[in-house]
Amino acid sequence: MNVREMIKIEKLHKSYGSLHVLKDINMSVYESEVVCLVGASGSGKSTLLRCLNFLEKRESGRISIRGEEISPETHDINNVRQTVGMVFQHFNLFPHKTVLENVIEAPTMVKKIPKDQVIAEAKELLQKVGLLDKANVYPSKLSGGQKQRVAIARSLAMKPDIMLFDEPTSALDPQLVGEVLLTMKALADEGMTMVVVTHEMGFAREVADWIVLMDDGRIIERNRPNEFFNHPKEQRTKEFLQTTL
Ligand code: ADP
Ligand code: MG
Repeated sequence: MNVREMIKIEKLHKSYGSLHVLKDINMSVYESEVVCLVGASGSGKSTLLRCLNFLEKRESGRISIRGEEISPETHDINNVRQTVGMVFQHFNLFPHKTVLENVIEAPTMVKKIPKDQVIAEAKELLQKVGLLDKANVYPSKLSGGQKQRVAIARSLAMKPDIMLFDEPTSALDPQLVGEVLLTMKALADEGMTMVVVTHEMGFAREVADWIVLMDDGRIIERNRPNEFFNHPKEQRTKEFLQTTL
């Protein structure tokens, strides 16, 4: 079998001053896998995603993307960020641009792709996230769930190979969570490689190939959803499940 290793993290450490936040993280993500990263607040999940997208500088260790070790010294990190898209808890759409303008911004400005082509592709993406009819409205007219779906479309417009999601539904009213999770599930079904930080255990159980539990900067357990929820290996996983389920 020849399954591509999309992300490989080896012996990753990260500190903020004297606070050791990531402690010897080792993890691989293969093509089309969905990894759900779970764990208590402060356990280092966001920091790990931010290191993967090179928004944070690691202290030591290696990060390889599609088999190639990436470092800011040898690579243009902006190129890497095109390969690795990221969606945040807060959508950060440009308020003075329409939905369509938000989606075409990066491909036209960063990638310099002709505008006609970008617009056609953006419309397809908006269709995919169910918001083509909102193409010409401003973000202030959208619900939180719709804004997050636009943020997903905007990230996809750069044609990433990997998508990182950092609690994409945590800021949403409960009734808006489902539509965003459905959009993410559709993306997973299409074969996108995804790392998703989430507290939505139903989503994790249904969509994840692997669940990774972090605690105090370490990976405690990496397991298949069924095993993770029904027969966790680690005592700390059992404790985590008791606090969340
Ligand atoms: P999680 O996403 O799992 O809640 P984070 O990765 O955000 O955890 O944070 C891990 C630890 O690092 C926490 O103790 C947090 O307070 C600390 N931390 C996160 N970002 C910074 C920062 N920019 N400066 C200092 N400490 C930070
Ligand atoms: Mg976080």
